[in-house]
Amino acid sequence: MKSSEPKILIIYTGGTIGMVEDHHSKTLKPFDFNEVNKELPELKKIKCQIDAVSFKKPIDSSNVSPKIWEKIGDYIFENYDKYDGFVVLHGTDTMSYSASALSFMFQNLNKPIIFTGSQLPIGMVRTDGKENLITAIEIASTKRDNVSLVQEVAIYFEYQLYRANRTTKISSEHFEAFKSYNFPSLAEAGIDINYNINSLYRPKKNRLSYLKGFDSRILIIVFFPGISEKNVKNQLENTSAKVIILMTYGSGNIPLSDQIMKLIKRHTSRGVVFLNVSQCKVGRVEQQKYETGKQLYSSGVIGVGDMTLEAVITKSMLYLHRYKNQEELFKKEFLTEKAGEFSI
Ligand code: ASP
Repeated sequence: MKSSEPKILIIYTGGTIGMVEDHHSKTLKPFDFNEVNKELPELKKIKCQIDAVSFKKPIDSSNVSPKIWEKIGDYIFENYDKYDGFVVLHGTDTMSYSASALSFMFQNLNKPIIFTGSQLPIGMVRTDGKENLITAIEIASTKRDNVSLVQEVAIYFEYQLYRANRTTKISSEHFEAFKSYNFPSLAEAGIDINYNINSLYRPKKNRLSYLKGFDSRILIIVFFPGISEKNVKNQLENTSAKVIILMTYGSGNIPLSDQIMKLIKRHTSRGVVFLNVSQCKVGRVEQQKYETGKQLYSSGVIGVGDMTLEAVITKSMLYLHRYKNQEELFKKEFLTEKAGEFSI
């Protein structure tokens, strides 16, 4: 091993990628990640120095909570100076949430944090996990002029590298499990890895900041044709949420309703923040386009532009914790671009 080789830390949290078939019972079980070289002898051929840490009890990512985001964050923060890049192996179900959360926790990164996983376990013949892991490591170790090429949190999956906070899981059966609808991919892997240099994020400041702490007092109200005012009223009256996300139609519209507007205004005057997220994955919220959206704008609801729901939730949780009962500061931070999460 040469000392000039890049150093990569793999953090294994669980998910399908780390499963192998138990020969006796024929069921899938997590493999001991310390034996990763046995499952993936190819790793030895990659020209970098790889260390791995594993959760003692690997988890299905449906069990992820902010505590897990902090656990992953702490591993990275404590080892930040020792490694050139980080690869986080994570279940796909909530990968977009975790990776978005990490993108807000680590601001002004100058190294890559690449999340990946797989649809088929690494111990299966047709696994997508090997390619995903090997290419994620290669991306995490890539430098130009001695600095890391990728300096942000990203997801590598099925030949595409995406900005983490722009992604959504779209499929539970295709290898192409993620999409970034409102932002181009950062790189595409073929024979070569072709980087979309103009899309790569560059930190605004030199100093890394690591933020922790989440407040999950968030409510989501999904609108559908036929939803009664009473239904909306019940949800609004029986909540202690500090941030209420309205999942609206199209460019941010809901049925015209004086009653709902009255309720929104009443909550807003008590310090609750309303965010308008569209049920459409492509495009942006523009509340002033139609009368049905303008009523929300006039009632103080904030349109989130082209942010994903995953980014809206994780960013809200982080800033809600920091600015409890200071909704103006919360709004100011929420509306400030932190890690390329919306288009200006
Ligand atoms: N349920 C699994 C998880 O998210 C699915 C996967 O890894 O793809 O942990």
